[in-house]
Amino acid sequence: MTEAFSLAGKRVWVAGHAGMVGSALVRRLGRENCTILKATRKELDLRRQADVETWMAANKPDAIFLAAAIVGGILANESHPAEFLTDNLQIQTNIIATADKLGVAKLLFLGSSCIYPRLAPQPLKEEYLLTGPLEPTNQWYAVAKIAGIKQCQAYRRARGRDFISAMPTNLYGPNDNFDLASSHVLPALLVKAHQAKLAGAQELTVWGSGNPRREFLHVDDLADACVFLMQRYSADEHVNVGIGSDVTIRELAEMISAAVGFTGKFVYDSSKPDGTPQKLLDCSRLHGLGWHAGTSLPDGIAATYKWYLENAA
Ligand code: GDP
Repeated sequence: MTEAFSLAGKRVWVAGHAGMVGSALVRRLGRENCTILKATRKELDLRRQADVETWMAANKPDAIFLAAAIVGGILANESHPAEFLTDNLQIQTNIIATADKLGVAKLLFLGSSCIYPRLAPQPLKEEYLLTGPLEPTNQWYAVAKIAGIKQCQAYRRARGRDFISAMPTNLYGPNDNFDLASSHVLPALLVKAHQAKLAGAQELTVWGSGNPRREFLHVDDLADACVFLMQRYSADEHVNVGIGSDVTIRELAEMISAAVGFTGKFVYDSSKPDGTPQKLLDCSRLHGLGWHAGTSLPDGIAATYKWYLENAA
């Protein structure tokens, strides 16, 4: 597919630039000939409409990657329902509505594969959105993200704005959250395996049954897909971004232990939730456009462990 929207010479705002996704976008955009705009949390509280308008009017972005959000793993989602719903709605509404007001040429909104119904057929096709009840553990986040997709569609229809949405599967990589209480499973197991190895422990605790299936995409692949979509995609429908295969949490724990060098056994903590039984995206739409993920899960885990050792351990 040809490039319809060039980033060359443009002012590109990465909203949420300090997070895992935003920082990957900043790395990837470094290869485009564009000016990258950033606003720190101290400079700009994205939950405040007037502040967002003032900042955007002053900084004049031509394009926006909307990667700012309150995110977290299965327990964080369950423990902070109000923040996951309200803060995310505020952040995205403020940015999307102001992008319309100022006539921003292109905006890409980032969601998540948790927008799909809990028991939707697998792999998850884009059209399964809103065909059934959500997974309760992350419904607050999911409702905000579904609203974001609809906001982009509404501004496309009503105002002719080129606002699009991408729905990535579970992500991991540099700048992930490695705090065990609020992180997602991959960084959590990486830290647990590392600490168990250092302590010479014989056991590592895995939450839930180990049976849920998840798909994991390296965040640098996501950033590449986002730039690809920004340059080449313009339509109502959101686009799934995944790697095309999933693993059980048990298999993930084994892969991580192999990368870290932990040789003990796993203990399953059934007091913790399993969440949705499976989340595997159908990426036919994205593959049809000509984009495929480049990082295998074992390679991505090895690279992330190296990053963790050098930067976060
Ligand atoms: P989800 O994809 O929204 O369910 O988010 P998570 O990445 O937090 O959890 C994925 C699955 O991994 C769930 O079944 C968790 O119970 C399981 N899991 C196993 N061990 C852990 C852990 O130490 N931390 C987290 N966050 N999840 C874990």
